[in-house]
Amino acid sequence: MSKPRLEGKVAIVTGAASGIGEAAARLFVNNGAFVVIADIQDELGHRVVGSIDPAKCCYRHCDVRDEKQVQEMVDHAIEKYGSLDIMFSNAGIVGSLTGILKLDLGDLDNTMAINVRGVAATVKHAAGAMVARQIRGSIICTASVAACIGGSGPHAYTISKHALVGLVRSTASELGKHGIRVNCISPFGVATPLTCQLGNLDPSEVEANCCAMSNLKGTVLKPQNVAEAALFLASDESSFISGHNLVVDGGLTVVSHAFS
Ligand code: NAD
Repeated sequence: MSKPRLEGKVAIVTGAASGIGEAAARLFVNNGAFVVIADIQDELGHRVVGSIDPAKCCYRHCDVRDEKQVQEMVDHAIEKYGSLDIMFSNAGIVGSLTGILKLDLGDLDNTMAINVRGVAATVKHAAGAMVARQIRGSIICTASVAACIGGSGPHAYTISKHALVGLVRSTASELGKHGIRVNCISPFGVATPLTCQLGNLDPSEVEANCCAMSNLKGTVLKPQNVAEAALFLASDESSFISGHNLVVDGGLTVVSHAFS
């Protein structure tokens, strides 16, 4: 029998009380990792731990906007499980749905504070812990197809996800000398509270719309599918991949709808 892909590794997943983060936390544990499930939705986070395996994961309140909480979350992972090999910086929000003409700059600040500044804080403290312990770790961030294409809004979200890819590329360049890999995933079309809010739709409507827009007709993307991409980037199977944006979008971004 082959050994589990993350056997004995320690991971933090932010935004893990729901959606893609929850699926990734579950998959990481099922593949042999110990996982800190971090979020601001405490009740949901504890429920996720209970539904996975409290012997192999724990919940930690962490608002990624607060650098002290981020630092304490990293310290907690190391104290509890003895290492930090994987940081899946996945927490994110959509922000308001307006385009540039009605852009609320306060909302832009809040979106950037979570989707960019918050991710930067998690990457900073995870990388710091890895460098100090000479851990050749894997850092993964969740961007979006909104980092690959424009679109008619939500504008703040699109700006933030483009910035996130820049963060990943520059960090990957810097941390390569320490053997630390940094990559991101750009999903599209998974029905979660975030995408339901984006379109003001229920989950089945999100799935139907996204399925119609993607190029892989009849395939519905689930949180598990994005989590599988995170598992690949977390595992040694991707040991020579760094600075990459792995797009998980059913071919959406390679199709020009203008010609279809
Ligand atoms: P989700 O709403 O199910 O999960 C997002 C989680 O982030 C929630 O549990 C929420 O509580 C948490 N969160 C929000 N603000 C936080 C903060 N300040 N600190 C810590 N945690 C916070 O949505 P999801 O779709 O699973 O989103 C996960 C990531 O995937 C996000 O970064 C999102 O932008 C990205 N994404 C999702 C899709 C998709 O199709 N679902 C597409 C592209 C990108």
